[in-house]
Amino acid sequence: MATESTKKIIVLGATGSIGKGACEVIAAHPDRFSLVAASAHSDAEGLSRVAREFGLSRVCLSGAAAPLDGFDFSAAGSAGLERLVRETEADIVLNAVAGAAGLFPSAWALDSGKDLALANKETMVAAGELVKDLAKKRGRRILPVDSEHSAVFQLINQIGADKVDEIILTASGGPFRDWPLDRFAGISLADALRHPNWSMGKKITVDSASMANKGLEVLEALELFPLGLGAIKVLIHRESKVHSLVRSRDGSLYAQLSEPDMRLPIQNALSWPGQLESPYGRLDLAGLSLSFEEPDTRRFPLLALAYEVGKRGGAYPVAYNAANEVAVGAFMAERLPFVGISEVVARTLESDFAARPESFDAVAEADARARRVASGILERR
Ligand code: NAD
Ligand code: MG
Repeated sequence: MATESTKKIIVLGATGSIGKGACEVIAAHPDRFSLVAASAHSDAEGLSRVAREFGLSRVCLSGAAAPLDGFDFSAAGSAGLERLVRETEADIVLNAVAGAAGLFPSAWALDSGKDLALANKETMVAAGELVKDLAKKRGRRILPVDSEHSAVFQLINQIGADKVDEIILTASGGPFRDWPLDRFAGISLADALRHPNWSMGKKITVDSASMANKGLEVLEALELFPLGLGAIKVLIHRESKVHSLVRSRDGSLYAQLSEPDMRLPIQNALSWPGQLESPYGRLDLAGLSLSFEEPDTRRFPLLALAYEVGKRGGAYPVAYNAANEVAVGAFMAERLPFVGISEVVARTLESDFAARPESFDAVAEADARARRVASGILERR
């Protein structure tokens, strides 16, 4: 039953891995959450299914030319998505769009006075300052959904931001953490999609195998938390039970542990500043062994590149993400070997991206330019 305290939620990317998890969380708490609108890019059937389950009257197919029939509000294309976000009355937008395409939806959500539950890490990587300014101007919150950042967010809020000295993001290391380096040239798409611990969308699964995902998360953390790059560390933690740690000034470490289940950070973002009971992720500690090790940057050059990009600033983070999206697309189409992904990104970053984008349009321009550079490198390979 919807009540006064029910949060009205819009889910963008409702047919994806995070979007589906979000729908399950919302369905599990009908007294607290109400789904009021949803989008998908091209999966009309999937979106219709969500709409039927929640009795939605507002939907958008952002990648289609024509809207779905039979709704009070039904739109298509990017302009339709903007209208859905801006014109739907809601408390919070969960942005689970994949890739840099999530940037403008984040801006529309905040600009129209909604809190932003952010799975789309590309938003923070490409335009962290701009979205933070917008959130401040509109008096709304950015609530991280990425499991590591959710963990850090919860921990920092408990310990107190002024006491935090260092953040340690954990990473599973993906399927290639133990492969001999001389086998990397033969990595296939099927190899890269075999993630040991998490079930996720395809693109982020490839990024986990290359650790570009962790690179993006370092850049995301740099924008979300008021600490410099030197205070953001990464450790490989094979068991994926510790979702990140925070070190306080006195040297103590605080960690968030749970089974790997994205529904937990999704629920925490949606219920912030409260917390709800949850069947997700409850961990039995007895008999558990936990391991931590430094990542080998020869094995994962994209992680080292992310730190370099974070140091350079400007539009380099935009270019890092855009070039990686182009290269991963080529790898998934079997036009580029796995080891070629980091080469394409590194060579794209040889172009000049020093100018800081001062607007969302300038971010989009830098993103488009990086894609052109990366595509040119791909063609000449
Ligand atoms: P996914 O590919 O499973 O789903 C993506 C969703 O976005 C789909 O609903 C799709 O219809 C929609 N979409 C795709 N392209 C779009 C576009 N151009 N415009 C608008 N909508 C579009 O992806 P996912 O794994 O759910 O990841 C979504 C986001 O969440 C990514 O930014 C990812 O990095 C982040 N994230 C995912 C996980 C995870 O466990 N899957 C964990 C942390 C963060
Ligand atoms: Mg993550």
